[in-house]
Amino acid sequence: MRFDGMVEARFIRRINRFAATVDLAGGETLVHVANSGRMRELLVTGRRVLLRPVAGDHRKTAFDLAMVDLGHALASAAASLPNRHVPEALRDGRLPQFAEFDRVRPEVRYGESRLDLALCGPTGACYVETKSVTLVEGGAGLFPDAPTVRGRKHMVSLTRAVADGHRAAVVFVVQRDDADTFSPNDAADPAFGRTLRESLDRGVEAYAYRCRVTEAEVVLTDPLAMRLDGGALMETYRRLYRRYGPQHWWPAETPLEMVLGAILTQAVAWRGVERALANLRDAGLLSPRGLRACPEERLAELLRPSGYFNAKTRKLKAFIDHLWDRYDGDLASLLSGDTGALREELLSIHGIGDETADDILLYAAGRPSFVIDSYTRRILGRMGLAPDGDRYGDYQRLFHDALPPDAALFNEYHALLDRHAKEACKKTPLCDGCCLRGLCATGRASVDTPPARNL
Ligand code: SF4
Repeated sequence: MRFDGMVEARFIRRINRFAATVDLAGGETLVHVANSGRMRELLVTGRRVLLRPVAGDHRKTAFDLAMVDLGHALASAAASLPNRHVPEALRDGRLPQFAEFDRVRPEVRYGESRLDLALCGPTGACYVETKSVTLVEGGAGLFPDAPTVRGRKHMVSLTRAVADGHRAAVVFVVQRDDADTFSPNDAADPAFGRTLRESLDRGVEAYAYRCRVTEAEVVLTDPLAMRLDGGALMETYRRLYRRYGPQHWWPAETPLEMVLGAILTQAVAWRGVERALANLRDAGLLSPRGLRACPEERLAELLRPSGYFNAKTRKLKAFIDHLWDRYDGDLASLLSGDTGALREELLSIHGIGDETADDILLYAAGRPSFVIDSYTRRILGRMGLAPDGDRYGDYQRLFHDALPPDAALFNEYHALLDRHAKEACKKTPLCDGCCLRGLCATGRASVDTPPARNL
């Protein structure tokens, strides 16, 4: 797609979905924004933009906002271009996956949607929906940049086309050349990501391309790798790991210490737990036998640094009694049970709830059972990734569905979330410089808009 006579201006503000004002030769001028996407990361006050002059009696503005200068690259802002790129690239033989189709019908109805293209040929039809991608984070093109009910409907219609015996594809066109991969933007719209993945499971094809954008033209160029695994949760893990490195959890030595620590750490910081464990060690009581023999009053005194020590003494005793009653004091035997059954058994013991049971499963027994705590809830909630329900299991299911069942991964991930909540995502979050900011709804909303230039 070639452009002539582009006009340079400075962006001022977005007025609504389809209009913005720019500083054009010292005057504030209304321009048309041919893109219903939010584009908050693109449309920043003061940025250089390129306008395409457009004539027409029906128009309120003389220009379309065509491109935004990001400093290191130009981005095309016209959402209508991708459905022109695809036929153009098809004609030039640059889309071999569609080579069997020799005719293109634009704007076709299918199911509940109007889809961009129907590619037709002797073997049948392929319904194609193109999506304009303008958001790039860390080399990944991301779509959408805001929740899109329409986008989900398109995916459902494409899935229906496949069920009806046709081919169907979604083509994500990253309208800039600084992306290396493409991923659904699960942080902005997890429902779209889920719908996309379901559509792919049912036979819808997905492709992503980037574009070469110059002031004279926008051309579809290289295909991009699609990264769908784990979505936003996997990307969150990668960023946290890059920022903080390995955390070497659990901070206890033996499986018994891990179990005791899991019970004692309820509602208190780990420092107090360490002191309580040290007391038990110094008293020679760090064994199932020693703990069973120790009178409650003495145990409570030793556990005092862990807070709520009377209640914790009863919980610890309940666990030790269970261990002796059922396993003759053999912890390895208790921990060797089937994961689901072991979890149920742990939950049946006085004082062991979901989080403590999963701490024991993950850190003492090495099972892939994700631990959900208040830090996890806080971070996911702020990122816009919280599940529909608010129960422990709703949160845990998010992780179990998105990640491979890998105890080492779950171990490190939980530890990293804990570290992040203490260092950045505190009660009052420190979003400036946060490694998750690009993935995080709260972080993105807090991006400072540079002050408007004097006009
Ligand atoms: S950007 Fe802010 S709210 Fe989001 S995870 Fe980081 S610190 Fe928390």
